[in-house]
Amino acid sequence: MKQFLQLIVVGMLLSLVGCSCDERTYRVQALQQWMMPNGKLKALSTTAMINDLVQEVGGENVDALTLIIGELDPHSYQLVKGDDEKLVFGDLIFYNGLGLEHGPSLQGFLLNQSKAIALGDKIQNADPALIISYKGQVDPHIWMDVSLWAKTVHYIVEALSKKDPVHAEAYRLNGEKLVQNMMLEHANIRDELQAIPSVKRYLVTSHDAFNYFTRAYLAETEESVPAWQERFAAPEGLAPDSQLSAKDIQEIINHLKKYNIRVIFPESNISRDSIRKIVQAAKEKGLDVKIATIPLFADAMGKKGSDGDTYLKMIKHNAKIIASYLEHNGNG
Ligand SMILES: [Zn+2]
Repeated sequence: MKQFLQLIVVGMLLSLVGCSCDERTYRVQALQQWMMPNGKLKALSTTAMINDLVQEVGGENVDALTLIIGELDPHSYQLVKGDDEKLVFGDLIFYNGLGLEHGPSLQGFLLNQSKAIALGDKIQNADPALIISYKGQVDPHIWMDVSLWAKTVHYIVEALSKKDPVHAEAYRLNGEKLVQNMMLEHANIRDELQAIPSVKRYLVTSHDAFNYFTRAYLAETEESVPAWQERFAAPEGLAPDSQLSAKDIQEIINHLKKYNIRVIFPESNISRDSIRKIVQAAKEKGLDVKIATIPLFADAMGKKGSDGDTYLKMIKHNAKIIASYLEHNGNG
């Protein structure tokens, strides 16, 4: 068994060739630690945003690992060599759900596993009104609202405690502390963005990942649908696809004009082709629109050591960049 595990680790390590050196070293160490049988619970999370919370709640009693590494797109992620072993080896698997992980091979595995927990689906079942539907589809980007993402902590604590009752009290305390911290940051981010005049609080990014962010931080208090949804637009849909029609471009240009929007925000893991096309088309119509020079983190966290290498850092980074552009360079 031990030899078999070692073989698996070697195979997985080889599959990591191709990313940058520091990042690779970090990932190799994380994988080695995770695959080592040491009595700790082994938790696998599909995205880094989930893994960050699992790490905080699990503390020293859990080894946590992310499946979809780097800047890969979670919407369309398909299993690669070595993933099957990780999915089988994990004691628990946490995933976003709400249709985020819809690559057929990954989705097929998750739906058939009792040890796989769909955090977003749990929130939706408990309170469907919290989940946004957009153009007839459920929007899976719930991590963009810190107060909503904090609700997943309860389900992480619950799952870890059930699997490892000996450390249930530690998970409960870690969870409590984490939620407190998250709610504090949520309030800070809302204050920071609400300080910008309402007329300037309009956001355009590459794909439809910022509906929850907009509802939580850019909307007026008590502003209802569809008014607050007008504050956010993106040329690519809920899953980025880079396929823009002339109609898509025209709709975004009309939106930019209508709300006097002067800046479009790129996202760290998405090609800028679509937004470049829009800026060019807008220019031809006499509209001066710029692309923000620092990208936002949407579906992927930043590299180790970057401004987005933890969940809260990533959201605070987004808030800071958006606030600075909307206030000083951008709209209104
Ligand atoms: Zn997305």
